[in-house]
Amino acid sequence: MACFWGAGLTGLAKQYRDRRKSRLFGPIVVMALGAALLLVALAVFLLHRFDAAAAEREQHMVENGLERQLHEFDAVIVPQVNWDDAVKKLDHQFDPAWADFNVGNYLYTFNGFTRTFIVDGEGKPFYASIDGERVGTENFARFSAIASQLLPEIRKAEAARPALKPRPGKDNILTVPIQANGFATVDGQVYLVVATLVQPDFGRILPRHARAPVTFTALPFDAAMLKAFSERYLLDRLELVAPGRSPQGNAQVALHSPKGQALALLTWQPREPGTMLLDQLRLPMLGVLALIAFTAFTIVRRGSRVLNDLFASEARARELALHDTLTGLPNRAKLFERLGALLGQIDGKGGAVAVLCVDLDRFKDVNDTLGHGAGDVLIEQVAERLRRVCTDAALISRLGGDEFVVVCDRSSREWVEALGLRILTAVREPVVSAYGKIEASCSIGMAIIDDAGVVPGEALRRADLALYRSKELGRMQASFFEPAMDNALRERRALEADLRLGLSRDQLEMVYQPQVDEAGRIIAYEALVRWNHPDRGVIPPAVFVPLAEESGLIQPLGEFVLRRVFAETAAWKDKRIAINVSPLQIRLPGFVALVTRLAARAGADPARYEIELTETALLADGPVTAANFDALKRLGLTIALDDFGTGYSSLSVLQRFPVDKIKIDRAFVGCMEESAESEALVEAIIKLADALDLAVIAEGVETEEQMARLSALGCHEFQGHLTGLPISAAAIETTRLRARRIRRRA
Ligand code: C2E
Ligand code: MG
Ligand code: MG
Repeated sequence: MACFWGAGLTGLAKQYRDRRKSRLFGPIVVMALGAALLLVALAVFLLHRFDAAAAEREQHMVENGLERQLHEFDAVIVPQVNWDDAVKKLDHQFDPAWADFNVGNYLYTFNGFTRTFIVDGEGKPFYASIDGERVGTENFARFSAIASQLLPEIRKAEAARPALKPRPGKDNILTVPIQANGFATVDGQVYLVVATLVQPDFGRILPRHARAPVTFTALPFDAAMLKAFSERYLLDRLELVAPGRSPQGNAQVALHSPKGQALALLTWQPREPGTMLLDQLRLPMLGVLALIAFTAFTIVRRGSRVLNDLFASEARARELALHDTLTGLPNRAKLFERLGALLGQIDGKGGAVAVLCVDLDRFKDVNDTLGHGAGDVLIEQVAERLRRVCTDAALISRLGGDEFVVVCDRSSREWVEALGLRILTAVREPVVSAYGKIEASCSIGMAIIDDAGVVPGEALRRADLALYRSKELGRMQASFFEPAMDNALRERRALEADLRLGLSRDQLEMVYQPQVDEAGRIIAYEALVRWNHPDRGVIPPAVFVPLAEESGLIQPLGEFVLRRVFAETAAWKDKRIAINVSPLQIRLPGFVALVTRLAARAGADPARYEIELTETALLADGPVTAANFDALKRLGLTIALDDFGTGYSSLSVLQRFPVDKIKIDRAFVGCMEESAESEALVEAIIKLADALDLAVIAEGVETEEQMARLSALGCHEFQGHLTGLPISAAAIETTRLRARRIRRRA
């Protein structure tokens, strides 16, 4: 279960880490890729714009170039036809030889015009030349259509021309050329046809007719022409195609007839400097993209490593914050977190959570006698055993000190009880360590929570109450929480308040139990405190002394005892008085001063008094305890070690503190008759006291047999119901007076 939970948590932690990573790196990757794509898109867009601008410029250049070319073609005809000689030889008196030499042959040879025709004022051809050779005028028929389209323009301009007057001797040009041109397809060949009006140049010879002859010169748009044009304008794959046949992506310029009909398309592959640049940039750009991708990848990878380290240290810090460093078990914070989650699942319809509070018995003694190292070893071992035994537990945690809490999502009382017993047994196995064999035991409080809405604090409080019951019952027990315990707690609180009140209202008093020698003579008294509660009757010190210790009332109680005992017994000069002192008192720095002050105030001689300490009091081997011990002895008080043999380490206390007396606990004395072991123990204690030269007294002596046996074993002082019940100082005073009177009478 714990493992499953652990695996679940690991999965959750991984999801959490991945989410945080993708939140951090996601934008970096997206931004890097976005920037790269934007860069590429921008480059492609700009280069395409570059291409488009270049294509547009080229288109204008070709259109203008063609225009200029046509004008050039027009211009080469003008010197041959706008000439006084031409008027004379073509208009006045037609001279075919002159026409061959100066027009037909000349324009073919020097300018490539393969067809030349001359028509008269009526539009009738009277001269024709093909490839520089004169031919019959019937050849004009193929060009009559284009001629009829160009001629009106010529005639219109001719009519609009200012009247020509003879200007002999003048040498400036009289006329401006009158020309028209257009494209025509003849026999599948596209021709540029130029119509030129025959005019004089210097005006020495003027036209004879109102309508002068017109020359039609045709230049084929053939391969040579295309080659020349493409070389001039650096055009790639320039060709002439029928309209609509231009290859995809090619630029084009239409060649129109004079009527505006597109006869052919001059097409070429436009230069795309952007695309060329793109082609050249492709590799470098791929390199840049790869570099960006690599940089992003490196950032993400390195960042991821750094983040992983951060996550790991964060997880370690969390782990440390939620776990106990000594045992590695979850700590209080983790317990509350997990217990809260489990309790939150209880809906009152069957679910339950069992909480077991495990507390080591007398752990403090181990620390005090064997040292904190041994205490740590014991805690580690107990943690290990809990892990071994509580395999089905949802959580095993250490709250600190010697407190452990086991949480199970079980509701069966039998199951939980069996687990409690297993824990008790496991903890009782002695721990063998470098510090020696450590005996341990624990008390357990168990609570099964099946009601919804219980918070972790309340669940722990219930288990804690049950633990308290286990301790009350004498430790090494496992008890279940019962609602009545709440009442018991309330009861304790009420008793605590009553005790406070009782102390202030003088409800407490002292009784004195005699300690006698073998002859039955009273040699001393032990002062024992009593509480006469107005409603509850006499409450024994075994109930209210621990209560006072736990509630901070031990100081006023201890002070009351000292004050009352000194006051009541100051006059009992021949008797020693033993006073019980709580471990908490002897640890207080002002304790000896208090003893001195109260004894002095009562006029009591401290040297007649004995302080009874249990070994627990002396185990708190702090500097104050030791100082108090020494100071008491210097004052003349003797020290008795009470309840000897019941503690954890009586011998080591004896070794460290020079006590004067040992009080054999009544538990051993009471069992002596039935148990040979107890008797052996009593004998051992007596021998020990003898060996250490200590006085020894047996408590709880109830029978003659016990007294005889103790006496035989070497114990010669007794305290118990056999030799005297605890009685008040007043009763003792009365007895003493009576005894004195009897003695006097005798
Ligand atoms: P303790 O110091 O061991 O005192 C002896 C206890 O044994 C007394 O119980 C006494 O009444 C009881 N006792 C004496 N003879 C017999 C006997 O023959 N049979 C049996 N069964 N019991 C006998 P008490 O007065 O109830 O005191 C119980 C414990 O309370 C004491 O044990 C002591 O530890 C503590 N105590 C009593 N008075 C004081 C006090 O003034 N201050 C402090 N700090 N503790 C006190
Ligand atoms: Mg005592
Ligand atoms: Mg005792």
